[in-house]
Amino acid sequence: MRGVYGAGMPPAPDDERWMRRALAEAARAPGHGDVPIGCVVVRAGELVGAACNERELRQDPTAHAECLAIRAAALSLGGWRLPGSTLYVTLEPCPMCAGAILQARVERVVYAAPDPKAGAAGGAVDLLHDARLAPRPRVEGGVLAGPAADLLRAFFAERREPGAGRGPDRHADRIP
Ligand SMILES: [Zn+2]
Repeated sequence: MRGVYGAGMPPAPDDERWMRRALAEAARAPGHGDVPIGCVVVRAGELVGAACNERELRQDPTAHAECLAIRAAALSLGGWRLPGSTLYVTLEPCPMCAGAILQARVERVVYAAPDPKAGAAGGAVDLLHDARLAPRPRVEGGVLAGPAADLLRAFFAERREPGAGRGPDRHADRIP
């Protein structure tokens, strides 16, 4: 598999640190009924955008964590191009977010859990590795995949339980 940790590619030293920050974003989402997915954009070692999934909160089908974090990064950097940036997201990006990543010229994408149903980095389709869509980012998956998948599992398990409580911090203790 291309660019997946465990296939002979050691993680960059800061990858786990920034993925933990993305996981902290993800943990905020259930507070407003959203699926826990979080994203941060980093350039030159600095955080320039951070967001969690806000689809339910905003009733906006495009309010995925990646799109919101990319918008925040473009605002903070004063331009729509994000060269030299790395985007960390807790779930493999969907086709819409892969499109936004390509449009923003994100240089590197690191995701945690794979998404075989809707992922666009090789899970369901492979937009991020498509040679026709140059320039393409470098892509690595599997960084802290376990904790990211645990957050998602806990969210959906709790939703299935009748009478399960809902609160802003209910998943906060699940961040490693
Ligand atoms: Zn998306």
